[in-house]
Amino acid sequence: MPENAAPAVVRVAVDAPQHSGLTGPLDYASEQALASGTLVRVPLGRRELLGVVWPGDAGPAPEMALRPVAAVFGAIPPLGADWCRLLDFAAGYYQRSVGELASAVLPPQLRELSPEQLAARLRKLQKKPAKAAVPEPARPALAPEQAVAVERIAAQLASGAPKPLLLFGVTGSGKTEVYLRAAEAALAAGRQVLVLVPEINLTPQLEARFTERFAALLPEPLAIVSLHSALTPAQRLQNWLAAHLGTARLVLGTRLAVFASMPELGLIVVDEEHDPSYKQQDGARYSARDLAVWRAHDLKVPVVLGSATPSLESWQHAESGRYERLTLAARIGGGALPRVRLFDMKALPPTAGVTTALTAPLLAALKERLDRGEQSLVFLNRRGYAPVLHCGECQWKSDCPHCSAWRVFHKRDRTLRCHHCGFTERVPSACPNCGNHDIAPIGRGTEKLEEQLTEALPGARVLRIDADSTRRKGELEAQLKAVHDGEVDILVGTQMITKGHDFRRIRFVAAVNPDGALFSSDFRAPERLFALLMQAGGRAGRDASGETAAEMWVQTWHRDHGLYQALARHDYVRFAGDQLAERRSASLPPFSHLALLRAEARTAEAAKAFLDAAAGLMQDEGVLVYPPVPHVVARVADVERMQMLVEAAQRARLQAFLRDWVPALLALKREHKAVLRWAVDVDPLAI
Ligand code: ADP
Ligand code: ZN
Ligand code: ZN
Repeated sequence: MPENAAPAVVRVAVDAPQHSGLTGPLDYASEQALASGTLVRVPLGRRELLGVVWPGDAGPAPEMALRPVAAVFGAIPPLGADWCRLLDFAAGYYQRSVGELASAVLPPQLRELSPEQLAARLRKLQKKPAKAAVPEPARPALAPEQAVAVERIAAQLASGAPKPLLLFGVTGSGKTEVYLRAAEAALAAGRQVLVLVPEINLTPQLEARFTERFAALLPEPLAIVSLHSALTPAQRLQNWLAAHLGTARLVLGTRLAVFASMPELGLIVVDEEHDPSYKQQDGARYSARDLAVWRAHDLKVPVVLGSATPSLESWQHAESGRYERLTLAARIGGGALPRVRLFDMKALPPTAGVTTALTAPLLAALKERLDRGEQSLVFLNRRGYAPVLHCGECQWKSDCPHCSAWRVFHKRDRTLRCHHCGFTERVPSACPNCGNHDIAPIGRGTEKLEEQLTEALPGARVLRIDADSTRRKGELEAQLKAVHDGEVDILVGTQMITKGHDFRRIRFVAAVNPDGALFSSDFRAPERLFALLMQAGGRAGRDASGETAAEMWVQTWHRDHGLYQALARHDYVRFAGDQLAERRSASLPPFSHLALLRAEARTAEAAKAFLDAAAGLMQDEGVLVYPPVPHVVARVADVERMQMLVEAAQRARLQAFLRDWVPALLALKREHKAVLRWAVDVDPLAI
């Protein structure tokens, strides 16, 4: 480069703090022109941060001298234009800065390594030439419905303008086999494949299935990689680089993997697309499912959204013809879905139902299965022993001093634990208020259920799986193995055990207390409950060779509720139709579009004052701003949480509103010093 050449101005996406108001890429000076997508290190304030040279023209030559780029990661090929488009879109849509988002989704270790250190790691990952002849993997013959689905996906692969595909298949209908075939077709066409799953726990199972299938096709190390937050920083960087360099042909991951750099991406699969874990719950609150659809559209590649209980958003898209629906109605091997028995709690003697979740008829049913040597699953969505400890003398209850919530009694380690702020104390031996020794747990959690089952069914091998039993690394795997190996008679747990696991031996599933969600203030609660129960039921009878019918037992006080009636017939279509009709008449999503503004402060008044002022900032007749209300759990760790809903009939209208509103909120926040945190959640899942 000639000595007196003027330095180039480059735009760099860098994670500037939100309050600085620096939301777009920043200008820096560089001795050489840098291609967009190049990873760099740049100074910001007194720090030096990872940044990405961003597409688009730099601003006019500045008055002040620009700070120079500190280092260039020359050994790594630049991120693709498509990756930058994805980030630009996501940042704009979810109202975050592109630099913040880039920094959040790139592997953390990139921030720490120097360009030289990184270059050394890389070198190992050079792409190998494809082999000439590859043996075909061994695979089962497809069932007729599977064959149609695979054919349609292949047709979309070949088409230049594919539509998103909704793979609507009951549990056990062989959706994964469809993903495998679709992946095979894309791999054979020389493309990379991205498969998203909702839970880290489900990645090893899926990885094993894909690795087994593609062992011959993809024998090179790192041809199949996973991406999720439980990897070590070094593994995550290695796998990310493998995807970026094209070494990895198949990437399996959780929501963050939607941002993987995959220059030859040709197919995206989103398994269990309805699952709420696809929505990020802090920072940039993106929906990986929605971004997968956007990314596929942008790249003109197919995206397959699979579920037995699709989100009502996706279902409505299929109804309206925006998505192509592929249906797998039959279980592989002809196994019937479990018979659903709605057990009417009102039929019990007046007091029996209140005191125990383990009703006598349920116990009898469990005993029957036990005597036949069959496995059962009992499901309750509350961990711990009992949700509250109570004094009968003075009515003291174990509330959390820092939250508007009860502290849960955990019997095993004799603690009272707040599931919101983590505040934990030893259980008092007497009522802290009046000294009465007779304090008792009310209600029930998985721990108590486990204890009751063990007492009521001597000799039964009872295993509990929930967040408490699986804290240590490896515990969950060991516990799942015991279930698969038939070393467990009754499995007790939270929704953790209802997801995805291909339990072959379970023939009886019981939901002991699911009614709560029917009366939640959150309009999505019934949708979530239905999906959860269908999924829990799907764990039963996956092996059709059993002699007895598989059964799902649902204890309820509201037997005639439409949700349970649809469940009893495994009738998702009916349920979705009813729910969508309700949503339409109430103008709720997917027939309207929502954003939530949240604010947290030491006092509810301060949080509300901010929200009220925010509501006053803008008028738009196409956008409805509701009055502020407290969060369902209003106080957590001594912080009051308020929220305010913003609604528009059109997505574009809401987006236009947010584009002006959010910068104004940044300014407003400076006047509201008492507000600790605020955030905008676009398309919020939990209201
Ligand atoms: P889903 O994901 O829809 O719940 P899976 O893909 O896990 O269902 O399939 C259920 C079971 O059926 C799995 O054990 C799978 O190996 C098996 N399976 C799937 N497709 C076929 C097929 N075409 N022939 C034989 N077995 C199959
Ligand atoms: Zn008392
Ligand atoms: Zn608390």
